Amino acid sequence: MVKFVYDFSEGNKDLKDLLGGKGANLAEMTNLGLPVPAGFTITTEACRTFLKSSALPDGLDAEIASHLADLERAMGRKLGDPNDPLLVSVRSGAPFSMPGMMETVLNVGLNDESVAGLSRQAGGNDRFAWDSYRRLIQMFGKTVCDVPGDEFEQALHDAKESRGVRDDVQLDAEALQELVTAYKKVFSKHTGHDFPQDPREQMSLAIEAVFRSWNADRAVLYRRQERIPADLGTAVNIVAMVFGNLGPDSGTGVAFTRDPATGESGIYGDYLQNAQGEDVVAGIRNTLSLHDLEGLDKKSYDELLQIMATLEGHYRDLCDIEFTIERGKLWMLQTRVGKRTAAAAFTIAAQLVDEGMIDLDEALTRVTGAQLGQLMFPRFDLSSSPTAITRGVGASPGAAYGEVVFTAADATAKAASGHNVILVRRETNPDDLPGMIAAQGILTSRGGKTSHAAVVARGMGKTCVCGADELEVGRDQFTVGGQVVHEGDVISIDGTTGRVYLGEVPVRPSEVVQYFEGDLDPAQANDPLVAAVHLLMTHADSRSSLKVRTNADTGADAARARRFGAQGIGLCRTEHMFLGDRRELVERLILAHNATERKEALDALQPLQRTDFLEIFREMNGLPVTVRLIDPPLHEFLPSLEELAVQVAVARERGEEVEREQKMLTAVRRMHESNPMLGLRGVRLGLVIPGLFAMQVRAIAEAAVALAAEGGHPRPEIMVPLVGAVQELETVRAEAEKIIADVVRDSGVEVLIGTMIEVPRAALTAGQIAEAAEFFSFGTNDLTQMGWGFSRDDVEGAFFWRYLELGIFGISPFESIDRDGVGRLVRIASEEGRQARPGLKLGVCGEHGGDPDSVHFFHEVGLDYVSCSPFRVPIARLEAGRAAVESAGSDHR
Ligand code: ADP
Ligand code: MG
Ligand code: MG
Repeated sequence: MVKFVYDFSEGNKDLKDLLGGKGANLAEMTNLGLPVPAGFTITTEACRTFLKSSALPDGLDAEIASHLADLERAMGRKLGDPNDPLLVSVRSGAPFSMPGMMETVLNVGLNDESVAGLSRQAGGNDRFAWDSYRRLIQMFGKTVCDVPGDEFEQALHDAKESRGVRDDVQLDAEALQELVTAYKKVFSKHTGHDFPQDPREQMSLAIEAVFRSWNADRAVLYRRQERIPADLGTAVNIVAMVFGNLGPDSGTGVAFTRDPATGESGIYGDYLQNAQGEDVVAGIRNTLSLHDLEGLDKKSYDELLQIMATLEGHYRDLCDIEFTIERGKLWMLQTRVGKRTAAAAFTIAAQLVDEGMIDLDEALTRVTGAQLGQLMFPRFDLSSSPTAITRGVGASPGAAYGEVVFTAADATAKAASGHNVILVRRETNPDDLPGMIAAQGILTSRGGKTSHAAVVARGMGKTCVCGADELEVGRDQFTVGGQVVHEGDVISIDGTTGRVYLGEVPVRPSEVVQYFEGDLDPAQANDPLVAAVHLLMTHADSRSSLKVRTNADTGADAARARRFGAQGIGLCRTEHMFLGDRRELVERLILAHNATERKEALDALQPLQRTDFLEIFREMNGLPVTVRLIDPPLHEFLPSLEELAVQVAVARERGEEVEREQKMLTAVRRMHESNPMLGLRGVRLGLVIPGLFAMQVRAIAEAAVALAAEGGHPRPEIMVPLVGAVQELETVRAEAEKIIADVVRDSGVEVLIGTMIEVPRAALTAGQIAEAAEFFSFGTNDLTQMGWGFSRDDVEGAFFWRYLELGIFGISPFESIDRDGVGRLVRIASEEGRQARPGLKLGVCGEHGGDPDSVHFFHEVGLDYVSCSPFRVPIARLEAGRAAVESAGSDHR
């Protein structure tokens, strides 16, 4: 027979899947000999069976009864006994902590009779008994029977008001007894029946409610977004109650074994006297700091400290803890490896290495690239201790300040006249896009991390706080907590913490970036965070097999990326080199009537290009530089069709000379495309405009030879974009090889020729293409666009928020590579390419190159390098090291 119920003494921390996180850790603490109230766990398997058949599995009831009998024996009391009742808590506990699920019901077993028994147990403490009873009705009503919680809150509020007291502790026994009557009324009004008096019925209903809450809407949605499997189920813990609300010698608290904000070692936590359960975090009364407990109850305090040390040593990590003191006796109610800020994650990992608790490999698994990314954003300087006016969801990190505007139009107008603006909306929609682009930051009162505002802001790298639901957003002002903020007033928003401040909070650069820039010496900085980052980055580099290059197309970017640890350039775009005062040459090229005119334009561009490349090769001396031949459609370098048409019409009306404009207009019309992304661009352009690629190839080769002549070591790689068929590449290659041979001669310079793999057909014919390519670089942006049939610029604002809301994908496939689809194209091309040409160099130059999860995927596929924007180079380095440690996995440790 399947075993559905485990006593705490039967479980351990590795049984999370079966017992849930809470149950597994309660068992672990029990077995460590720590003071945990007796109890048992009903498994996730029981939950799964229940959800499948809508009935409790056979035998579960009997098993529960037998464990309850054991519990009653151990405690010397019977559940709900009118004279001397045992009370229990019924607590959910899934393998992953999950918002949206039922939480906990305390004091199960109390009813109209046993409330008197409880009072006697507590030495005639009526107040305590009625307080416990009213809490049961409130929690049971809310979580088991969906009674609106604010009606209980209202009744409590009324009770306090009618007695003229401020705190719930000031309500006496009589007041609480009346409150129970009021609560019962609320309960029957909403459920149509009386509050159940039978203790076993209370317990069973609560257990089933926990099971059912696994499929509550919010829980389902959360799982879809976080990619948590839908079929895990939740466990239920039944725990003998201990009471922190027995008087001033009792209380309840939470604690961390280190500071979860900074990682500093020491004791952190809050304590509340004469309180139960959630009171301490609910903010109903002002809590004491944990240190104050020493003065109140030295014995319990010392014991707690000792237990915390035991737990840290045992879990080898920061633990967070829930405890209760019942008349001077300490009880542990929960522990788990605690959540922490990004800064704390790094500091703690390094500390644990110092303390000899973990090795460097394990330390790498304790931090993430996303956390490192957070540490690289500029932050508000909070030394003036500004007070936040409200707090929402930190949806897209960064620190931004500006004048409040309420419409996209105002945002664009004000930004155009040089003002910093923050766009404040109830929620955003695709029409707000121009305003979002113009604003420094976005603040909304509705929606979570997957709302339109959040998704679009993250895509743009723009600071965003969303779902600040205390905001009343009006037409030209918003109010929060009675405070009115008008259009034009300045606010500051913190996209990491979600905090919103009035006025301009000064921004300071990140120390971590200063360190990467080389402006902060980790040995001298005297900053534990910088030292920790240095330690872990150094180790990551020593472990990784995946190299990290950068996308850079100026000497300055190349230099910065090199400081950030880039091992070359994976993508040097040449587009911008055709802009500015060179536009005129490009126009001449496009408008050329004959070969001579075209050659003149190209000849003028060639030396300019050579200078561009020489500068970049110099900065990357000794490291490979992949230069992509021109990619976008040529009309992008011309004026817009609409504007030009209007200009010509107006000029003509006035009788002005329009010959040049007219010629241009004809050219623009001729080149106009309805799907430019799929039109005349990349290699297609090179094959259609004679001499264009040849000019670039010559410039690259000459720049390389020039650097070699200076004594440098250039390593140019020429990359042909948008290839779909090997014949395209062969044609370009044949011409390029001739030019290179002609330029390079005996300079010792070697130039590689390779291709982007960004058209699905190229991925699927990679075996053929590899015959003509010395390297592949996956352009995963285009591969995603063409693989999904998404036009990136259109779809992100138009409907991605909806897809995310529906859970169709958990994250935009442009942000993190879609392993199953686009990733499969990468795999196929890698395997078939290397089969055709062993040693074929493989890299990635799409935005995915800097995305942590994607980096792990590229490591698995066995690519040689990823390339990403300079700012993300450190993130990719860290993740490359983590991926190597992970795949070495168990055979290392
Ligand atoms: P959550 O998962 O939301 O933290 P918990 O199951 O931990 O929910 O319980 C909520 C609160 O009730 C916590 O403060 C916890 O310490 C307290 N609590 C739970 N069980 C008991 C118990 N048997 N005796 C006293 N307090 C309890
Ligand atoms: Mg808890
Ligand atoms: Mg591309």
